[in-house]
Amino acid sequence: MLALHIDGLVKRYGDFTAVDGISFDVPEGEFFGLLGPNGAGKTTTINSIVGLSKITAGSIKLFGLDVTTDWRAARRLVGLSPQEYNFDRYLSIRDILIYQAGYYGLHGKAVRARADDLLERFGLTSKAKQIYTRLSGGMKRRLTIARALMFEPKLLILDEPTAGVDVELRLELWSFLRELNREGTTIILTTHYLEEAEELCSRIGIIEAGKLVALEATRKLIGERTLQDVFLELTRR
Ligand code: ATP
Repeated sequence: MLALHIDGLVKRYGDFTAVDGISFDVPEGEFFGLLGPNGAGKTTTINSIVGLSKITAGSIKLFGLDVTTDWRAARRLVGLSPQEYNFDRYLSIRDILIYQAGYYGLHGKAVRARADDLLERFGLTSKAKQIYTRLSGGMKRRLTIARALMFEPKLLILDEPTAGVDVELRLELWSFLRELNREGTTIILTTHYLEEAEELCSRIGIIEAGKLVALEATRKLIGERTLQDVFLELTRR
């Protein structure tokens, strides 16, 4: 079963083409990485997958469901941890999680228990009653991931999950994401950190100027792209 099937995705903003005919598949259970420089089209691709951006041409399927025609069912399967914080600043951390489940029609004791469980798992229990502006940067990052997991998505998409996060927390997040993937969640991650993709992802796609320019097994891709000749010119002073 494919978790994600993208066929000829095009996204234009007016006359500007942000995504220019991208196609790739992600099988269920994979940990997949999307790399590329600033402005390459990674977030636009992700926004098209989760329904935040209306696609111009092409098609996207999540677990066989078309995100345009079967959007309601498709969206229940995918959780997004976005690059930018978009929390309600008047809600407590715990309520942010509980409200998120509410958007998916889930409520009651089980939802409250899940929120408490995720707060514990992400080390946020002591902050449960605070508003998000009182959290540190790393805590906010953890909260975006916890929120994306509230309705137990089969596919988790993380848009630069460790941007601005210290080394210790990054290692902690990596180990958590690995565990989540082992438990069966398919994960797609965008990052600027090559070592992060190398550490976590079994395959990597590289996007440049809206096109997919490489898609390989991580080991092969890193082997090919990091071997460089270094020339040193030695002069006597
Ligand atoms: P980064 O690594 O910096 O997050 P990215 O690969 O995620 O970059 P996108 O955010 O997808 O890049 O942007 C791709 C291109 O589309 C950029 O040139 C950006 O300015 C443009 N773009 C994105 N959103 C819009 C929008 N709503 N309207 C017009 N142009 C947009």
